[in-house]
Amino acid sequence: MRPEILFPLFAPVTSLKGVGSRVAPLLEKLAGPIVRDVAFLRPHSVIRRERSSVAAAMEGAVQVFQVRIDAYKRPRAPQQPWRIETHDETGLLSLVFFGRFGGDLEAKHPVGSRRVVSGKVERFGLNLQIAHPDYLLPPERASEIPPFEAVYPATAGLPPRTVRKFALEALERTPDLPEWQDGAWLAREGFPSWREALALTHAPQGEADLSPLTRHARRLAFDELLAHQLAMAQRKADRRAAPAPAIARGDIAPRIEAALPFALTGAQQRALADLRGDLAAGERMSRLIQGDVGSGKTVVAMLAMAEVAAAGGQSALMAPTEILARQHFETLAGPLSDQGVAAVLLTGRDKGLARAEKLRALASGAVKVAVGTHALFQDDVAFQTLQLAVIDEQHRFGVAERQRLQAKGEAVHLVAMSATPIPRTLELTVYGDLDVSRIDEKPPGRTPVATRAVPMSRLAEVEARLHQVVAQGAQAFWICPLVSESELIDLKAAEKRAQELRERIGPGVGLVHGKMSGPEKDAVMADFADGKIGVLVATTVVEVGVNVPNATIMVIEQAERFGLAQLHQLRGRVGRGSRESACLLLYDPPLSETAQKRLDILRRTDDGFLIAETDLELRGGGDALGLRQSGFPAYVFADPIAHRDLIAAAGDDARLILQRDPDLVSERGQALRVLQELFDWRAASPLKDAG
Ligand code: ADP
Ligand code: MG
Repeated sequence: MRPEILFPLFAPVTSLKGVGSRVAPLLEKLAGPIVRDVAFLRPHSVIRRERSSVAAAMEGAVQVFQVRIDAYKRPRAPQQPWRIETHDETGLLSLVFFGRFGGDLEAKHPVGSRRVVSGKVERFGLNLQIAHPDYLLPPERASEIPPFEAVYPATAGLPPRTVRKFALEALERTPDLPEWQDGAWLAREGFPSWREALALTHAPQGEADLSPLTRHARRLAFDELLAHQLAMAQRKADRRAAPAPAIARGDIAPRIEAALPFALTGAQQRALADLRGDLAAGERMSRLIQGDVGSGKTVVAMLAMAEVAAAGGQSALMAPTEILARQHFETLAGPLSDQGVAAVLLTGRDKGLARAEKLRALASGAVKVAVGTHALFQDDVAFQTLQLAVIDEQHRFGVAERQRLQAKGEAVHLVAMSATPIPRTLELTVYGDLDVSRIDEKPPGRTPVATRAVPMSRLAEVEARLHQVVAQGAQAFWICPLVSESELIDLKAAEKRAQELRERIGPGVGLVHGKMSGPEKDAVMADFADGKIGVLVATTVVEVGVNVPNATIMVIEQAERFGLAQLHQLRGRVGRGSRESACLLLYDPPLSETAQKRLDILRRTDDGFLIAETDLELRGGGDALGLRQSGFPAYVFADPIAHRDLIAAAGDDARLILQRDPDLVSERGQALRVLQELFDWRAASPLKDAG
């Protein structure tokens, strides 16, 4: 239940003065539906208003003048403005009004009266002028002009000044809340109280006060991070508290491992040890395995499934597409069945008797490992003793889908796999409720992908070269980006490119795009995997993780538009065999300096974690959208770059708090509940409810 002290903040925006049915939707769009959201708006810049004389006026500056009104000049043509001529002891200043009626102005500001006027000074010919002054007031009201004015984000129909008025009123309504931070930490960081920090945010005295590094900004960021970390730590603790079958080491997995044609890398061994530790602990496991495409996650998952099988339990591995499920099955089924562990593949294609047969084998426990797609969690699929769920490309599944699979057993252990490398500093914010194992080492013997940036002007050359290698039996991906607002336009571009390539290269050019149905996509992908198609043109949907060892060339159009992590993932589709492969990053010149640096890092390294880390640096925190795409939560105050140090501190703090006071009943615990309510952590990690 929400504490009463927060009621004013959770009132609808319409409870603010002046927010009626016209303004409310605009304010909601800008801030959010409740008063808290308006109080959480932050100015993006500060105007400093300096007093000046007309003679000392500075063009472009926002200044305040004391003048006397001399005359009104009506426009000589309709598109011309009304002008008010004024002066002070040092010179003449015109006030300019477009689209306003001078008579109305004159009634309010008659000739001969003194006025304080403020706005941006412009020069028009020889004249100094202010167009549409921000303030035009009688001298006794001069104090209404603030020396510093915070400028708020605005939207059509809702100018910055109006937003500021609402924000200040929302701040007024904001109560003092009980302190939830540790006193010693506050003192060490020199942090103000929460209410004070918020007030300072709304009262900048200069640009420096808007920096994310001020004490008040850091305080608010830390509060927000702590609220989130606490929520994730609680979920983790809840899951931990749930008992799950303790699965000891058996003798099947070591035999499978010994029979593999390769040795596990050190990183794979570490990940496997993590999984074994979790399985044996008697608590429910929720672990994420992070590692580049091709780093060998599936093998590790297979060995964990073998441990479960040795203990008599069942496992399910779920992949987002049929072709991926099929590939996994082909990898796993042999090694498992060689050691007497039966596996089945279950996809949407299974129908009738064959399907019934597979379902019977799963229900009876005759089959220990199921590999499949969404078909795995259909209602009529039952397991005898499902103990481990492995989710490949976890971000492709919704929470509900994972839960439906896990619901097919009791206290099912969860392993999620992801090929999207998250920088270590952000790991806590994206996956704070999971344990993470990183596979940061590639199996030996891979030839690095030769990566080159090529301007679009050399397209014809690229196509000619592609023609040559395809004629020799190589295969290539050709990625057309989703760049315009309209998917339809992008689709047209991809179709056009496919057509053009067909003219140059021949009929073996396929097209796969986001508007196709799952089975349609799978069919084209399967043709490509089987070598029936030489060049696969795709919008960005090239199924993550698909293994086409014969594909050695990756062409990416408008590479400058992609996130680094995405480019890296796309590049990971090639270079899977031992043959030399290439990645061509086609770009529209000129490249910005940052874009150049980004493409450059790809040429220099193949380490997904390093690339993700660099990507983060280069974004400089300015690319909130891109970050959100990589799973970073939509924080209001916390900035992933500027507040990196606070992320770790908040994570440590959250763990410590829950150790000492798991149910948050102490005085500080109660205050922390207010904090959690305040930030309302519903939107958390993509796996937040996985367990
Ligand atoms: P991921 O799921 O991380 O993309 P996979 O587990 O599918 O990677 O492995 C990719 C390929 O590398 C597979 O063909 C697999 O057999 C092979 N592989 C995995 N581990 C090793 C290793 N330690 N040494 C050599 N090859 C390996
Ligand atoms: Mg994989």
